[in-house]
Amino acid sequence: MEHCIEIKNLSKIYRRGKSKFAALSDVNLDIGTGMFGLLGPNGAGKSTAMSILATLAKPTTGDIKIYGYDLQKNRKEIRMLLGFLPQEFGVYPNLDAEEFLDYIGQLKGLKERKNRKKEIDYILELTNLSHLRDRRIKTFSGGMIRRLGIAQALLGSPKLLIVDEPTTGLDPEERIRFRNLLAEISSDVTIILSTHIVNDISSTCNSLAVLNLGKIVYHGHPADIIKNAVGKTFLLRTNEKELATLKENVSVISMIMQPDHIQARVVADDVNGLHAEPVDPNLEDAYIYFMEVQTGVKLHEDEALYQSKN
Ligand code: ADP
Repeated sequence: MEHCIEIKNLSKIYRRGKSKFAALSDVNLDIGTGMFGLLGPNGAGKSTAMSILATLAKPTTGDIKIYGYDLQKNRKEIRMLLGFLPQEFGVYPNLDAEEFLDYIGQLKGLKERKNRKKEIDYILELTNLSHLRDRRIKTFSGGMIRRLGIAQALLGSPKLLIVDEPTTGLDPEERIRFRNLLAEISSDVTIILSTHIVNDISSTCNSLAVLNLGKIVYHGHPADIIKNAVGKTFLLRTNEKELATLKENVSVISMIMQPDHIQARVVADDVNGLHAEPVDPNLEDAYIYFMEVQTGVKLHEDEALYQSKN
């Protein structure tokens, strides 16, 4: 595996008044090329990690190398080879898409006008924005803005693309289009993607880490975390009355309301005595099994149930 990012003993301590808070503690991670997914509930420390990798925040401790460059000593070199799409992506509402990219291109040091235009044309095509090049950004939908975010991050041909929670606020259709775009790009560029939504990474990432309370609690291939949940994922026939007590022992992934019963998809170590049929787990089942059953982290109900709808 070609190493793209090597992280050793990374921690980030924030001060909160007089007390200290570790948003990241002793993170160790080797990331290869391709698409890497950093998954974790809100507050896990994902954005903190992403902005450190993007050289926008400094770690409290730790050694980080990106393509062999030291993050503390070679910030300039690292900035030259990365593109970043932050969670809050500010744009210039009165510019049109092409003007915006031209402006960012100049900031990134693409000096020659003709080459810059050529690159912008290519990127507009890739991100499916060519037909919107003359439209003012303030008229864009959430999905268009995210695609423009990827477009600006791709200017200057980065080797590494860092993308923080890119599908937040997108509708389901836009989400799918955006995931497909990332998958397409990942054949040429290494992508580090952070998200709290499992389905953002399911089909495309060749490596996955789970972050919880500032610590890496899992790192491996998505297929391996799925193996963990084999024999632990079930379809349950139940009813509203039973469901409340059931939730104490199983984690509910999704529910389908039938006229006379509820069909619930659940993960659990043990479903003895219940009307349950085992099914093949997917990554979402596996993530919730790992977090809620094995690690004992209660995901926010919205966060868990929300996932299956997307
Ligand atoms: P995630 O992206 O996984 O939701 P964040 O990296 O945004 O997590 O935040 C991790 C933790 O660090 C949260 O508890 C958050 O409140 C805290 N945090 C983030 N930024 C700061 C800051 N500038 N000062 C103090 N605490 C912060």
